[in-house]
Amino acid sequence: NYSPSRMSFNYGGGKTGRVPVGIGPRRLRIVVTGGAGFVGSHLVDKLIGRGDEVIVIDNFFTGRKENLVHLFSNPRFELIRHDVVEPILLEVDQIYHLACPASPVHYKYNPVKTIKTNVMGTLNMLGLAKRVGARFLLTSTSEVYGDPLEHPQKETYWGNVNPIGERSCYDEGKRTAETLAMDYHRGAGVEVRIARIFNTYGPRMCLDDGRVVSNFVAQTIRKHPMTVYGDGKQTRSFQYVSDLVDGLVALMENDHVGPFNLGNPGEFTMLELAEVVKEVIDPSATIEFKPNTADDPHKRKPDISKAKELLNWEPKISLRDGLPRMVSDFRNRILNEDEGKGL
Ligand code: NAD
Ligand code: UDP
Ligand code: UDP
Repeated sequence: NYSPSRMSFNYGGGKTGRVPVGIGPRRLRIVVTGGAGFVGSHLVDKLIGRGDEVIVIDNFFTGRKENLVHLFSNPRFELIRHDVVEPILLEVDQIYHLACPASPVHYKYNPVKTIKTNVMGTLNMLGLAKRVGARFLLTSTSEVYGDPLEHPQKETYWGNVNPIGERSCYDEGKRTAETLAMDYHRGAGVEVRIARIFNTYGPRMCLDDGRVVSNFVAQTIRKHPMTVYGDGKQTRSFQYVSDLVDGLVALMENDHVGPFNLGNPGEFTMLELAEVVKEVIDPSATIEFKPNTADDPHKRKPDISKAKELLNWEPKISLRDGLPRMVSDFRNRILNEDEGKGL
């Protein structure tokens, strides 16, 4: 009984839904868990920009109020400090479920908490979706493919994941979250959507979250060498954040459950990425080699034919066009940090 039409007041089984005020097109009320984080805050900007009401739930583990401060005076915006591992009661039309640390450094910091966030957090949000008849979108990850034996990866590939390794809390946590979403869909009729997101970059990434793009850009601005792990020949495909946000909204508004790969198929080795950073940010930048981390996937590249065909979505911004767009945000924050330290 969800209707994407904003004219419809028929939602949530009737009993728990909000009473519509006035006549005419109705705003959607949307929860974004993890909305104070990197991707979440850009998504919130888009939803507020198109006129919806947005409630962010975040425990500020890796998210920051600074990412949302420009919305604090907007009456259509609310921010709740809450951990999704605990239940919560709200009346909403849609749930974008992003809450979960995404960088390896953060998700390995407390692996048990990462699993609880993925499993109990997702369970609570699906329970909420079931109770109020809301549509639920899970932000899963390309990590469900593990160290893939199929290249590029299609959604039909089941993956090659180590269940007992250092990355398992995240990889297996997200795989379980996908399972939960499908079981609520099949068993309780919850309208779910599953996105498998590939490496994404842009303004508002944490400066020191250990991800390769944020590391290389911050290191170059600080005039430090870029740290290339292993031999630097491993590959990733990098997507600019606005392309991802467009894909998430297209998925939520469409009729297909998924899973859908959302990523930019442009594939780069870490050495090639370092060259691009050098080219677009500072030609004098240098690199240094460091040992790689355990279970690092050797290659990753999305096959996005399914999203192209069914969601009419594809990324628009290449790495060379996207990287310069995050530089001024990184420069400003690094400058503020240095001033704070009295440098
Ligand atoms: P992020 O770390 O910037 O944001 C995650 C947000 O979730 C933060 O604001 C954090 O405080 C919040 N959070 C974490 N645990 C929570 C909890 N228990 N309760 C409430 N809030 C909690 O990461 P991001 O890059 O914005 O990623 C957002 C989502 O997208 C994540 O689910 C991530 O797994 C997924 N994803 C991201 C990428 C990427 O490259 N950025 C790739 C694949 C998947
Ligand atoms: N839940 C929640 N908010 C709600 C409805 C449910 O946080 O509005 C939580 C609930 O506390 C439970 C989980 O979601 O831990 C799953 O709920 P469901 O009703 O599916 O299962 P049950 O409560 O029967 O275990
Ligand atoms: N990486 C690197 N230098 C860094 C950080 C990461 O060479 O300073 C490599 C890492 O070994 C991996 C790739 O970059 O092969 C992507 O790592 P990231 O943590 O950004 O994302 P993920 O491993 O989750 O794809």
